[in-house]
Amino acid sequence: WKDAVSVLSIVVACYSAYKYCRIVHKSKIPPVKTGVEELIGNTPLVLIKSLSNATGCNVYAKLELCNPAGSAKDRVAYNVIKMAEEKGELVRGKPGWVFEGTSGSTGISIAMLCNALGYKAHISLPDDTSNEKLALLESLGAVVNKVKPASIVDSNQYVNAAKKACELAVEKGERGVFADQFENEANWRIHYETTGPEIYQQTGGKLGVFIAGCGTGGTITGVSRFLKEKMKKKPLVVLADPQGSGFYNRINYGVMYDIVEKEGTRRRHQVDTIVEGIGLNRITRNFQLGEVYIDESVRVTDDQALRMAKFLMVNDGIFTGSSTAINAVAAVKMAKKVQPGTTIVIIACDAGSRHLSKFWKLAKEVDSNITLEQVIGE
Ligand code: PMP
Repeated sequence: WKDAVSVLSIVVACYSAYKYCRIVHKSKIPPVKTGVEELIGNTPLVLIKSLSNATGCNVYAKLELCNPAGSAKDRVAYNVIKMAEEKGELVRGKPGWVFEGTSGSTGISIAMLCNALGYKAHISLPDDTSNEKLALLESLGAVVNKVKPASIVDSNQYVNAAKKACELAVEKGERGVFADQFENEANWRIHYETTGPEIYQQTGGKLGVFIAGCGTGGTITGVSRFLKEKMKKKPLVVLADPQGSGFYNRINYGVMYDIVEKEGTRRRHQVDTIVEGIGLNRITRNFQLGEVYIDESVRVTDDQALRMAKFLMVNDGIFTGSSTAINAVAAVKMAKKVQPGTTIVIIACDAGSRHLSKFWKLAKEVDSNITLEQVIGE
């Protein structure tokens, strides 16, 4: 009887081991998806070894550049379309338009997804937008509407142009939505529902500091709200802000104004400075809803960002866009203030390939042997 029990136990153990191996093997097979929209999100975290070794903290980048159209904005574009479909403003299989005013990644994500889902994209942008972005949008089949350069008009000009174009289309009886990434709550919500939980799981709930820049505010609002609600030991949320942006003063001193006079710098527009996609002088809905979760803001200069981009490329093979470089500088500054061993996660919103003609034109001139101390330079 005893022998029979032993034999049975061995058989059960072998069968369990066999089943376990099959599951592990299966989980290693790359997934098969039925459309590009299914490739959005679940982006990897990568350890930035150079910064981790130098600071004694574990500094990770959340590689949003791994989304199919190359940035975190894929998540937002998809959620904007999904919410419009839920409201019946767009109907799958019927003609429809998505309008947006942007010189950044959101237009590219919208253009890609419109192709995938059977809609058309109409993007208004300043006519001084870099050639590579224009070419990308046109290659993706978007209708491009160029308006006056943002450097000589209010930066809202192209947002208003997109809004107008949407209204005209709807008046003509066409189905159309204005994506409105600055005000549309579909933006922060998708980061609350996906980016935040992913970071929490990937760090095993042991996150100490979360760092992001702020353009619309969607990323920092969604992620930090999730993390602050979910985690017992609340992580520090840090906004990395470029020169000329008002967020730094708003978070640290409660005033969002006139750093122009205070710092002697010119008023910042998103397209006429070296660092693109982040920094603003107005409070958007997506920022307003999230500012309560932001603990502090770190100011990063354009020069620090350029040097950091080169440093990360040379030492880690990580080819970043300008906002990622800003976040990496903020990570080094924060690492000096927290306990060694703290886990720090920064958002890597997009890759350097989208910033060749402006940011990388200067960054590539930085000395390859630059040290981290020289990068920070303070
Ligand atoms: N980095 C880049 C390159 C961006 O284009 C943006 C969005 N404009 C951001 C960061 C900031 O993201 P968010 O709009 O969610 O604040």
